[in-house]
Amino acid sequence: MIFQVAINAPLHGLFDYLPPADWTGDQDVLGKRVEVFFGRSKTTGLIAGVADESSFPASRLRKVNQILDKDPVLNEEMLSLLLWAAAYYQHPVGEVIATALPLALRQGKPLGGIELVWSLTPSGAEQDSAALARRAPRQWELWQKLQQSPAGISEIVLADLAQNWRDTLKRMLDKGWVSSREEQISTEYPLEIHPGPTLTGDQSTAVAEIIDACSGFSPFLLFGVTGSGKTEVYFEAMEKVLREGRQVLLLVPEIGLTPQLLARVRARFDGKLAILHSGLADGERLASWRDAASGAAHIVIGTRSAALVPLARPGMIIVDEEHDPSFKQWEGFRYSARDMAVARARRHKVPVILGSATPSLESLYNVHRGRYRQLDLPERPGAVTHPEIRLVDLRAHASNEGLSTPLVLAAEKHLAKGGQVLIFLNRRGYAPTLFCTGCGWTARCKRCDAGMVVHHRERRLHCHHCDTRRPIPETCEECHEELAPVGQGTERVEETLSQLLPDYPQVRIDRDSTQRKGSMEGLLDQIRSGHARILTGTQMLTKGHDFPDVSLVGVLNADQGLFGTDFRASERLAQTIIQVAGRAGRAERPGLVLVQTQYPEHPLLTKLVTEGYAAFAEAALAEREESGWPPYSHLALMRAESPSMQQTLAFLDDARRLLILPEDNSVGALGPAAAPMEKRAGRFRAQLLVESRDRSALHKLLTPWLAQVRELPEGRKVRWSIDVDPIELF
Ligand code: ADP
Ligand code: ZN
Ligand code: ZN
Repeated sequence: MIFQVAINAPLHGLFDYLPPADWTGDQDVLGKRVEVFFGRSKTTGLIAGVADESSFPASRLRKVNQILDKDPVLNEEMLSLLLWAAAYYQHPVGEVIATALPLALRQGKPLGGIELVWSLTPSGAEQDSAALARRAPRQWELWQKLQQSPAGISEIVLADLAQNWRDTLKRMLDKGWVSSREEQISTEYPLEIHPGPTLTGDQSTAVAEIIDACSGFSPFLLFGVTGSGKTEVYFEAMEKVLREGRQVLLLVPEIGLTPQLLARVRARFDGKLAILHSGLADGERLASWRDAASGAAHIVIGTRSAALVPLARPGMIIVDEEHDPSFKQWEGFRYSARDMAVARARRHKVPVILGSATPSLESLYNVHRGRYRQLDLPERPGAVTHPEIRLVDLRAHASNEGLSTPLVLAAEKHLAKGGQVLIFLNRRGYAPTLFCTGCGWTARCKRCDAGMVVHHRERRLHCHHCDTRRPIPETCEECHEELAPVGQGTERVEETLSQLLPDYPQVRIDRDSTQRKGSMEGLLDQIRSGHARILTGTQMLTKGHDFPDVSLVGVLNADQGLFGTDFRASERLAQTIIQVAGRAGRAERPGLVLVQTQYPEHPLLTKLVTEGYAAFAEAALAEREESGWPPYSHLALMRAESPSMQQTLAFLDDARRLLILPEDNSVGALGPAAAPMEKRAGRFRAQLLVESRDRSALHKLLTPWLAQVRELPEGRKVRWSIDVDPIELF
């Protein structure tokens, strides 16, 4: 018997080992971790396959030192999914498997069925509540919870109850108020399901269709405008699955995992939740992973990486905002969590719901092809109206620092009537560049092909691509004339608005204003309480947040998206406009959305504004078909970068020469060519695109080609990668 072991290293393929000396031969070993010698060092691997023989003579194979797990850490379905993904995305299988495991497991530590449970000591229980509340509010909060749970609270639950609970607990431990004991971890938690609202007709139809298909693999596209009640449809469908004792995996975009969403899930499903996102500490991640894998968690909710977490009893997978680019991993193992969710549902034989107000063209195409079933929610429940979207022709109207007169007048009107106003632009900082009025010099990053963005608060120039920062020069570096910031970022729009509409308090939400922990919540509170009347922000404002009193939305720099270099630019623009628009008019006030543009007659833009996203998507799909871009073709993008463009291109040229295209022209190649941003962080970037209408023809070619490319001597001088199904071409 040969064990085929996956090892967390940038090497392709599995490694053959002999069973350990004490192996009795009767255990099922697939999915268990092993300790092995790899090269000269000991490492942790995972048995991903077994075989009767190896292509190496047995005398050259080493024995596994020991099998680390009693039970597999990855079940067969997950293992098969990950092996498939490694082959599909052309990524080293050991690294793919490592991505799916929490750190402690990658390091060979036991999964651990024991945890600490904390409770108050007699002296802790005697503390005076009111005094403690005054002196140490955080400790008081925790103290109250412990007071209410005489049996104690496990660390996993504490982590859910309070932020920074460890520090707080430590302080209480130092005073002798709390003590802990070890306990076997429970895998069974009670679940109480509270009733939701009575569904509308469209919602009921959608739920009925999903429930009908619950016994097998069936993919759905739930296409419903923002506020149409998609979440209630998820909840209702989840209820059915949860009542059968099965688990639900709910994936949300990076910034969609908001406290509001979690509160809604908790209010409806009083059970065990496992939460997974990039901000977790290793211990928290391990606890969530364990609850998902053991079946303890009823609902697993998380961002991208949660798509790879095993479930003991999977019953349904939901991908909310399925169009969102944050479902794609950008570096290393470049997978799409959305596509993985579908591949996974197929293996688990469960339904998968992809929900969006602005579905990706890929998913709509899959509906056309009969692969996905579309469910529509065209209306908002209750009397809530759709916002009206209008274009503002920037050529016909004066504007002040990017704010057109019609937009400013509309803002005055809406503010006077008590509404809130949201201004969206996807550019943080004060101004995108600094310009010399004398000689035309602009401040550029020395390491990138990009302008340095002016940040006024910080009093610095900042490159958004490589993070270089430097002081703002007083005068031009070339001719010592005066310098002026050109264009607008969120900081400048905020400044202009406070001059034009000084009576209304503002908040700005972007990466800079929300850097400190908790600051986002503070800003959102100002909006929800109605204190802030004007909200300026980037993409961060558009997702997952609900602003019922916003009655006017302004979209400032829409045109960037119309002529972007990427074939997805117009799709992204349309999604952004509709998503931002979705923030308006949720309450009784009808909403108005003003989109400023230099090109009001652009066919896709007018289609979107007059006929809506579905009509836009049809037109955009027709364009894609004509030009042969995805979803009508499949892409693999080879990116390379090095300190010299010559070197970068030399590598890609060599790679191109190794590429033998089939004679039937089913696969084509484009490039090598310099990337749209040629230089970034001091490295010169270029790319080679391989493209085919036939996915299997493309994949047949990739594996042997990349094996050869990996051997290229030029490859050692450059950093290169392959991106299968890239979502952006740069
Ligand atoms: P989406 O997920 O499509 O943005 P939500 O599910 O969040 O929509 O619903 C928007 C609002 O409408 C929420 O406040 C929700 O509670 C409410 N809602 C949804 N469905 C119903 C319904 N059938 N009856 C009453 N209110 C509903
Ligand atoms: Zn100058
Ligand atoms: Zn830079």
